[in-house]
Amino acid sequence: MNLPYRVTSDLITGIEVARVTPRVRPELLVSGARGSHDESNFLLVRVTTKGGVQGLGEVSGTLTWSGEDGATAAHVIESALAPALVGRPLAPVSALERHMDTALAASPFTKSGVSTALWDAYARALDVPLAVALGGPARTEVPVKCSLSGSGDRLRTALDAARAAGFTAHKLKVGLDVTADAARLAELRGLVGPDGFIGLDANGGYRRRDAARAIELFTPYAPAFLEQPVAPDDVEGMAALRGRGLCLVADESVFGMASLIRVLRAGAADVVSLYIGKGGGPGRAVEMGRVAGALGAEVILGSNGELGVGAATQIHVACALESLAGDLPHDIIGRHYYIEDVLSTPTMISDGVARLPDGPGLGIPLDDTVWSLFAG
Ligand SMILES: [Mg+2]
Repeated sequence: MNLPYRVTSDLITGIEVARVTPRVRPELLVSGARGSHDESNFLLVRVTTKGGVQGLGEVSGTLTWSGEDGATAAHVIESALAPALVGRPLAPVSALERHMDTALAASPFTKSGVSTALWDAYARALDVPLAVALGGPARTEVPVKCSLSGSGDRLRTALDAARAAGFTAHKLKVGLDVTADAARLAELRGLVGPDGFIGLDANGGYRRRDAARAIELFTPYAPAFLEQPVAPDDVEGMAALRGRGLCLVADESVFGMASLIRVLRAGAADVVSLYIGKGGGPGRAVEMGRVAGALGAEVILGSNGELGVGAATQIHVACALESLAGDLPHDIIGRHYYIEDVLSTPTMISDGVARLPDGPGLGIPLDDTVWSLFAG
């Protein structure tokens, strides 16, 4: 084959990390069945090659979600992943992902941050947007939504802040107490009107019996979906709740490819929530999305509170996927969730829409201040 010089022979020469601890905007603080945090502990990753190509990635990990955060990620990248990758060719990225799997067990969100930086560098070397390197684009923009918590003044304040940021679709965090959750849903329906988009996310907080009752109480308020009503491992419980009138989304039940196939073969979900971090990077997220489509499910992009780099990765993956849910907005929020962001370039998310950025790789320009956060 006569592939471009950089792709066939360029070598990885460095992997650097930078800790970032952005503060969440208090009015948009998400609290649900899996708790909440008012400051994220993330890690940025920069890959550099011998040919001078650079790539960026973001580890958007939380200890309560996968047991990873910026501190654990920095440790294992420096001690295990960087030694396994430096000196190897940039392409194919899938081979580098296998080397990461050999060097480090589990840790999908950490591997995802490194994988994203590798994919960004690879797409920049090819001089194409990441969505193109991933087999797309199937589209150039996707609708997005913003999560809301609480009730009363807190719910109204969150809704006002989300609207001010341009969001017109919303996801209410439930999963605590069925009766109280139904009252909060009724309150939100009153605030957004009969045509306002509302989805629900229980984060696995209900027992089976509560979940069945929740569907009965919620249905009159016409939510567009109910996400993860029961515990992540209760695939049979999810399957038993299907066909009761609400579209069911699997989130915590699906992490990697094996659990995706298990959930869909059990008939436990109509839609699957994909994260860039769950499967270990943008390439694997796209693979999972294609398998979900082949098994008859649609996918939406879920969020772990990404900053700008992570949100850009979500947009590229969403735009690469044919199997994306046609009528459901995605959890791509990026800088709107935080008081500050790592990107200085204008946000790619406005007026309730996330737009594919121009430019190679993630589309984050080399003059953006995010690159200066690294020591080297
Ligand atoms: Mg969720």
